[in-house]
Amino acid sequence: MGLTLAEYHRLTPLPRPGGVLYVKPGARGYRDPVYELLQRTVSPFGKRALDLNPGVGWGSLPLEGRMEVERLETSKAAFRCLERSGLRARLAPPWEAEEGGFELVVLALPAGRGSAYVEASLLAAAHALRPGGRVYLAGDKNKGFERYFKGARDLLGYGEVVAREGPYRVALLEKEKDPPPLPPLWRSFQAQILGQAYTFHHLPGVFSAGRVDKASLLLLEALSQEVPSLEGRRVLDLGAGYGALTLPLARLGGEVVGVEDDLVSVLSLRKSLEANGLSAQALHSDVDEALTREDRFDIIVTNPPFHVGGAVILDVAQAFVEAAAARLKPGGGFFLVANPFLKYEALLEKRFGNFKTLLVREYKVLFARREGG
Ligand code: SAH
Repeated sequence: MGLTLAEYHRLTPLPRPGGVLYVKPGARGYRDPVYELLQRTVSPFGKRALDLNPGVGWGSLPLEGRMEVERLETSKAAFRCLERSGLRARLAPPWEAEEGGFELVVLALPAGRGSAYVEASLLAAAHALRPGGRVYLAGDKNKGFERYFKGARDLLGYGEVVAREGPYRVALLEKEKDPPPLPPLWRSFQAQILGQAYTFHHLPGVFSAGRVDKASLLLLEALSQEVPSLEGRRVLDLGAGYGALTLPLARLGGEVVGVEDDLVSVLSLRKSLEANGLSAQALHSDVDEALTREDRFDIIVTNPPFHVGGAVILDVAQAFVEAAAARLKPGGGFFLVANPFLKYEALLEKRFGNFKTLLVREYKVLFARREGG
């Protein structure tokens, strides 16, 4: 707790064999027992390896220099670390892996992203492998490892668990058969928000797939009571997802910028905007990292990520508040919606010198104003 925005954005070098591995708050795959076990288990096989969920690159690191290692990463925070560490990586979802191009695939199960995303990742791994190729699959027994391992074995043919530690597992599988084709990944659904109809489009792995989160609706309800028109006002949506807040705010006349760390969400946001004939900027950005130094906003909104016990996520939520404090024009307002048990009040009081609670139902909507103006 207590990270400043500068500290949040700072990359920290850790020593690694043959170089340095950069890590930062908000970037996955570091100090994570699943990645630790993976890192102690992987060994080279063939010429080309593919890491489909590298995070900062820890899990497949022992392969570096012994095989050609390609990495597909969707998080901007993690990608910045990979680049700085000099590890070859591409910003792309797992299903964009080159077909049949690899002898080895490394996959830490992205269990937090839901089963549609995990299943698409497993299928992508099967397609990326040459016949006879191998997969290291790492996961947590308490987060569906057994079920996904079984699914992967059905897909590939052969597999066994090769490392165990507490609830953590690494399995080694071999591709003995051809996988079924990748199914269509895009989904869409309709929603009524503030009396208007929207069609949202999204890929697997986005927040609140299939229906708009109740907390997001509550934030919009509170905001529309507080601010009657957004005409000509600059609005920032921190963690925009597929656009549950960005689209309605753009329709209310705001010049909206959505920042979002996850590439799959950014692609979903862009498609949703286009499908609804709305325009807003959709930036692939770790918090406010992709904004210019001078960018300031009249209104900032967020439904921040949270997962009880997930330190990475709390760092991010806190960085959102810090970014809001830094990016509001004098007189500007910050709207945040959260679970009632999350204690944002003290942080708002500290950063803004004021806050009020606008609505409390299943969630609470908090509001803080930047002094001056
Ligand atoms: N505003 C959307 C999504 C809210 S969930 C809605 O109301 O439905 C929070 C979002 O924050 C997720 O889409 C998540 O991918 C994104 N996020 C997580 N870490 C982030 C970071 N470091 N920078 C920007 N966005 C981030």
